[in-house]
Amino acid sequence: MTLTNRPRGTNDVGPGEIELWHQLEEKIRQVCSAFGYKELRTPIFEHTELFQRGIGEATDIVEKEMYTFMDRGQRSLTLRPEGTAPLVRAFVENRYGEGALPVKLYYLGPMFRYERPQAGRYRQFTQFGLEALGSADPLLDVEAIVLPLELYKACGLSGFQVEINTIGCPVCRPAYREELVKYFEPHADKLCGSCKNRLERNPLRLLDCKVEGCQEIMAGAPSITKHLCPECEEHFSQVLAYLDALGIEYKLNHRLVRGFDYYTKTVFEVTCSELGAQNAVGAGGRYDGLVEELGGKPTPAVGFAVGVERLLLALRGQEKAKAETAGPDAYIVHFGGETKQRAAQTAFFLRRRGLWVELDYLGRSIKAQMKAADRLGSRHVLIFGEDELSRGEAVLRDMKDGQEQKVDLQDLEQLAKILGECGQ
Ligand code: ATP
Ligand code: MG
Repeated sequence: MTLTNRPRGTNDVGPGEIELWHQLEEKIRQVCSAFGYKELRTPIFEHTELFQRGIGEATDIVEKEMYTFMDRGQRSLTLRPEGTAPLVRAFVENRYGEGALPVKLYYLGPMFRYERPQAGRYRQFTQFGLEALGSADPLLDVEAIVLPLELYKACGLSGFQVEINTIGCPVCRPAYREELVKYFEPHADKLCGSCKNRLERNPLRLLDCKVEGCQEIMAGAPSITKHLCPECEEHFSQVLAYLDALGIEYKLNHRLVRGFDYYTKTVFEVTCSELGAQNAVGAGGRYDGLVEELGGKPTPAVGFAVGVERLLLALRGQEKAKAETAGPDAYIVHFGGETKQRAAQTAFFLRRRGLWVELDYLGRSIKAQMKAADRLGSRHVLIFGEDELSRGEAVLRDMKDGQEQKVDLQDLEQLAKILGECGQ
């Protein structure tokens, strides 16, 4: 470790890239507003127990990925590894459920998981997620799928695929779980280490193991479809009917399960072919038991989370992510001393009108200032020569065509207008 290395699995986002984040964040806010989702900002850390109870003890996240620490008051706190449990905690704590239902909320911010860093997998990453609480309507499952799709489309992303499944509910899942254990037990010695462990603690998770040897065994595993209770069956068929009615393409994948214990009924994942191994750009599902599990009244809910870095990676792969590269509206070239003061006054005036104006802070020669203006891609230079200044004027040069004109420094509104019009 050195002072000048960031921790493994983290990123700096600076000029050239931050513009893409701003564009994406704006699109997120637009789409959410159209669907009636309001932003909720929760703390970056929560009581550890929230995630143990919320995500489930026998999950990869809780077992091995959390950043957990004791604070100076000996409380166990955890940097949030996901956004749903904190949002549900806030929903219960702030009694949002007492208002109009459903409550539609979204979040956007950093999450933390101690994972093996690789392309598209980081230890600090950003999720945009949405949750609709207080209704069991299958149309809300569909909204949770469609909203992110609208976002992907608004960004210009193509080649994404929706996979969908149902994993039943506490009524029908136990029998399926038993059936699975019965099927896997004779194969136990051929399963990978994690799967052997999952077989006892969380057998559904075996279904989405990516290890080759396990995959062969998974192929013959019983499907949940025959075990669904009538309510789950009806719910799932309605979800699919809405998707069909809306013309949303999807693939049924009866081996799709998710890494959180809280899901019930519908689960879904969106993948993008661009991304290679880490190909999920978002995932979600219904979690009708979580609010109650965390101390609230029984409240059905459904949500989705998008990995923002992965979305940007996919967009970059398709050359859809282009940062705006426009330069300043004007660069004021001055001769130091009094001309610099006038340059500063003029710059501040123009900046107050929203124009991007630069000037020299390094005492450079005129030639070097012209070069700096050029390098920044400035549309104009405004030359503050002493002669012109004494007449209350300056020379404005258009950097594209080299045309020059005298501008009246007594009428900065007019100058702002000229620069503003050129910037459009
Ligand atoms: P994966 O199967 O890729 O590990 P996951 O099932 O753990 O994903 P979720 O917890 O459902 O993912 O999170 C939703 C989305 O957040 C993922 O689809 C992915 O785009 C993104 N994501 C998850 N973990 C990471 C990470 N460590 N780094 C970057 N993005 C991530
Ligand atoms: Mg994961």
